[in-house]
Amino acid sequence: MVEQNQMDSFVAWAKRRGVIWPSSEIYGGLSNSYDYGPVGVEMKNRLKAAWWNTMVRQRDDIVGIDSPIILNPKVWEASGHTENFTDPLVEDTVTHKRYRQDQLEDPSKSPDGNPVSEPKNFNLMFKTFIGPVEEDQAVAFLRGETCQGIFINFKNILDTSRQKIPFGVAQIGKSFRNEITPGNLTFRTREFEQMEMEFIVREEDADKWFDYWVEQRLQWYVDLGIEKKNLRLVKHPKKALAHYSKATTDIEYQFPWGWGELEGIANRGNYDLTQHQKFSGKEMAVFDEETKEKYIPWVIEPAGGVDRSLLALLVDAWKNFEKGRKGEGEEETVLAVKSGLAAYDAAVLPLIKKEPLQKMANTLVKKLRAEGKNVFYDESGSIGRRYRRQDEIGTPICYTVDFESLDGKTKGTVTARDRDTMKQIRIKLGEV
Ligand code: ATP
Repeated sequence: MVEQNQMDSFVAWAKRRGVIWPSSEIYGGLSNSYDYGPVGVEMKNRLKAAWWNTMVRQRDDIVGIDSPIILNPKVWEASGHTENFTDPLVEDTVTHKRYRQDQLEDPSKSPDGNPVSEPKNFNLMFKTFIGPVEEDQAVAFLRGETCQGIFINFKNILDTSRQKIPFGVAQIGKSFRNEITPGNLTFRTREFEQMEMEFIVREEDADKWFDYWVEQRLQWYVDLGIEKKNLRLVKHPKKALAHYSKATTDIEYQFPWGWGELEGIANRGNYDLTQHQKFSGKEMAVFDEETKEKYIPWVIEPAGGVDRSLLALLVDAWKNFEKGRKGEGEEETVLAVKSGLAAYDAAVLPLIKKEPLQKMANTLVKKLRAEGKNVFYDESGSIGRRYRRQDEIGTPICYTVDFESLDGKTKGTVTARDRDTMKQIRIKLGEV
């Protein structure tokens, strides 16, 4: 777990090990914009796959879709985003710095202690233009949430998927918000990825499904290996609810800088489908076989952020030992993530960069890759340093092909070294 005073070391580690680094760096960067490096992208893909697996593949009652970032601008009128997707913005009357009023400790004063202006509503939607001729260009928006792509496809899903209420529709993808106060690494950026699922239910079942999803989603973070004591549920007071929401509970994580939202579970009522029916003129109601009546169903939405979940996972699993794990050597860092979420499943290391060790190591790499494992091959540098490099990126196990692999009773075996215990055992190549 990263402590408050370790943030600089954590950020330096993330850069050094190819996890996360500032974007557009050679041009002086772009504020609050980050790239995922070779290790970061593998972990991010695995986190998304874990979500998709739990939410879609392991269930009969949820299907997935993938809709575009740019939708017909009417979607955002209907959803209320062009009008209501705003944050209250205030300005420090002395420094002219801007703040989100709802994030100030005292809503009448800036963090510098100066009085602030009256709040103005600032729309978070990113505008863009469609069409080659400037005069005719139509204004469009980059989506501020992925779920609207699901709502507008509600009827297509009913017609094509054989699902019946209650059922869910899931999507993972980029969203964009012109945030006033981005910050804390990837916690709040203007471009980010969401994992959202809209669970369509009858009104009378909404409370039951809301409670169900709060519990399921909290458990998902625990199953990722995040420490339970660093997670909590926070219910939104009625007056703080988003314009579409009847009830919201957030799952928060205790980041080094304080508690922050990972995911919100909202009861959206039938707000979105009703709005789309009104604005599109297309019917969103379904026929209830029992009551023989038509109704517009309700929606329970667990909406999480890929970047925030990954950040929580990294922060939670990161361990730094100033004098090494045995307390008497160089600084050591270990990323103790669950296997399956680390960038690599294993590393294969020939003890020295020579044949026949390399050949045997390559055979092992091929075997593991054929089994679908992501394997890191590294043949140069001292073996101790190579182990430490893998510990730092969380590789759960290293296989070393050494001289004992070649001769005598141990012929055909390799050393398997565990990241967390540093214990080494010999196992047969075929049993790896
Ligand atoms: P916040 O209150 O922190 O601004 P929100 O309540 O507006 O977040 P939602 O609209 O519920 O967020 O979006 C669902 C999830 O998307 C959030 O729980 C978060 O994980 C992620 N998310 C939202 N905004 C951002 C952002 N600017 N950067 C990174 N992730 C974000």
